[in-house]
Amino acid sequence: MQSLQLDLGDRSYAIHIGSKLISRGDLITPLLEGKQILIVTNTTVGPIYLETLKAGLLESRADLEIEICILPDGEAYKDIAHLEKIWNRLLEAGFNRKATLLALGGGVIGDMSGFAAACYQRGVNFIQLPTTLLSQVDSSVGGKTGVNHPLGKNMLGAFWQPRLVLADTSSLQTLPKRELAAGMAEVIKYGLLGDSELLLWLETHIQGLMQGDEQLLTEAIARSCQCKATIVAEDEREAGQRALLNLGHTFGHAIETEMGYGQWLHGEAVAAGMWLAADLSRRLGWLEASDCERVEKLLKAAQLPVRPPKEMTVDQFLKHMAVDKKNIDGQLRLVLLEHLGKAKLHSLTELEELKACLNSALG
Ligand code: NAD
Ligand code: MG
Repeated sequence: MQSLQLDLGDRSYAIHIGSKLISRGDLITPLLEGKQILIVTNTTVGPIYLETLKAGLLESRADLEIEICILPDGEAYKDIAHLEKIWNRLLEAGFNRKATLLALGGGVIGDMSGFAAACYQRGVNFIQLPTTLLSQVDSSVGGKTGVNHPLGKNMLGAFWQPRLVLADTSSLQTLPKRELAAGMAEVIKYGLLGDSELLLWLETHIQGLMQGDEQLLTEAIARSCQCKATIVAEDEREAGQRALLNLGHTFGHAIETEMGYGQWLHGEAVAAGMWLAADLSRRLGWLEASDCERVEKLLKAAQLPVRPPKEMTVDQFLKHMAVDKKNIDGQLRLVLLEHLGKAKLHSLTELEELKACLNSALG
């Protein structure tokens, strides 16, 4: 097991990463304020891991009151109506302010449980047990919680930090390969934006990682969390540095929006977006052609797409990128690469290179 600490003053917490952590009730029970626990999970993850989690908790502390809330699986259910189901369970069970929510699942369950915890009786504790690679390296770290609104993704939410994150690498064995690859896109992102050593390490170990080697996964997750934790600790509420975590995401959001959410997984769109960011950085004179080839090779080895969907047009990209929330004052601000391992926020004053980059990728 590897551990790191996210430093946020009195909201600091530990992230433990390793094999079979879902059964480690002993890591959870010392953090409980009371004895009431609501486990929130979904119809896919629940049947595989719920019993192990419950048994570990009760073994560590027999007097726990454990309630369960099982939500339907999917981004489509990340909404207020299903948030209400969590609150209903808490209220029906008579849970008080010392209750703790445990989020057992991917980013959807984590974001919803966190927001439910932030609001219940003005805020109760919650603990993340992320079971996708994406949620282990991204959504469970940093305290952003929330749900979607019909008019926009993640439009309702709160910053609410968990008390603990347990990233169980064994749970990745049951994760579909395509979801593993999508999570790997975010791992590669950390290497590209802030850690050239991680990037080199990934280039060496990508096969083993994709085959599910738990020791390698532990290392990759720990280094990714460290990278995100460092940035979040400096900029908890996204005033500056935290924007660098959006490398590849402005292009990616354009792909997701145009193709319809669900066609392309988020990580797949981000992968193509990172390649575009690298190519644009080359056109601006910061990266070498050989750097772009390295990015392409690594993404391909992680079974990720490296070009945007052919059916998209330059105009569609520009339309979606212009409304991206990273925009301030009408200038298109993009996260680009100064070199491999260092990202920077750049204001594009003219669109020529961007258009050339998109034209060539779509051509
Ligand atoms: P997800 O939660 O939908 O999980 C993907 C799929 O894998 C689901 O079908 C799920 O049931 C299944 N699954 C999960 N764990 C499994 C396991 N161990 N074995 C088998 N199947 C398993 O998607 P995700 O990629 O984990 O997260 C995406 C969500 O995270 C989005 O809603 C996004 O907005 C959010 N997100 C939040 C942040 C943040 O900072 N809060 C950051 C990034 C993403
Ligand atoms: Mg992302």
